[in-house]
Amino acid sequence: MKQQDSISIVVPCYNEEEAIPIFYGEIVKKLNTIPNIDYEIIYINDGSRDKSAKEMKQLAIQDDRVKYILLSRNFGKEAAMYAGLKESKGDYIAIMDVDLQDPPVLLKEMYETLKSGYYDSVATRRVTRKGEPPIRSLFARLYYKLINKLSKTQIVDGARDFRLMKRQMVDAVLSITEYNRFTKGIFSWVGFETKWLEYENIERVAGETKWSFWKLFLYSIESIVAFSTAPLALASVLGIILFGIAIVFIVLIIVRTLYFGDSTSGWPSLVCVILLTSGIQLLCIGVIGEYLAKTYLEAKHRPLYIIKEKNTDQKKNSEAENS
Ligand code: UDP
Ligand code: MG
Repeated sequence: MKQQDSISIVVPCYNEEEAIPIFYGEIVKKLNTIPNIDYEIIYINDGSRDKSAKEMKQLAIQDDRVKYILLSRNFGKEAAMYAGLKESKGDYIAIMDVDLQDPPVLLKEMYETLKSGYYDSVATRRVTRKGEPPIRSLFARLYYKLINKLSKTQIVDGARDFRLMKRQMVDAVLSITEYNRFTKGIFSWVGFETKWLEYENIERVAGETKWSFWKLFLYSIESIVAFSTAPLALASVLGIILFGIAIVFIVLIIVRTLYFGDSTSGWPSLVCVILLTSGIQLLCIGVIGEYLAKTYLEAKHRPLYIIKEKNTDQKKNSEAENS
């Protein structure tokens, strides 16, 4: 039997040169408080344009528990997380942001919860959105209401990507290789028992957020398309409603013509109707187009990411000596 559990910390980084060493200091401090574990910290450089890669390599020289994966360009956080999970070796795997918005102090409690048996993963959610623009919070709330109505897979409001999972669950997540990834939904989709921890929003230690309002908006559309086909049904429902209205109008017009004679007035309303229906048609084609585009990308079977360089297969000095 193995005497020690090992924990892998997966940390996607994009332009985070300042935060990388700060994160390292904090996480090591917290991991050292957990007795009898071995750990590795896997930084994924998601095509940063600053010195992030250099910082990671520097740390890896000092400490052989630091691993790095350098991606060949910016593939996005979703792909970076997948790369990290794929290369991780631990029995327990955590995903964390490098900006310390995911408090490392929770790790000990998470680990103990998993260790005691029942749960397969411990996830976190923010209960406040302090420090965030109000309009962003409003849209975020609306978004969660909408996606949970549309999709059978429940997405918890305020859920972070920060969680600690057992190997079995990570393997399940890795078995889902779809190109358009929405990890929060995938975690929920694979099932398993998840315990939720709540905490108040913390502002990042250094650097700035990589998510503009527009990027978040596009990401939210992506997640809806990834986890719900309800918008496709919208086209048919609207079609049926309009068809019904059209029939009623046709009957009314026939009746009116028969009783009151023909009249050429009424063309403005006709134009309105044409505009309305063609607008709805375009909307529906757009919805179908979204799904078609996703299908197209999936059908290409492109890899989720490309690794330029990594040290995750390197043995630790102590292991190398033993073997
Ligand atoms: N990130 C990434 N690739 C990207 C964008 C972000 O790896 O294309 C990383 C980023 O370095 C950070 C985490 O994802 O560790 C969360 O990003 P950020 O803090 O900007 O998001 P927020 O906390 O504002 O939602
Ligand atoms: Mg952040």
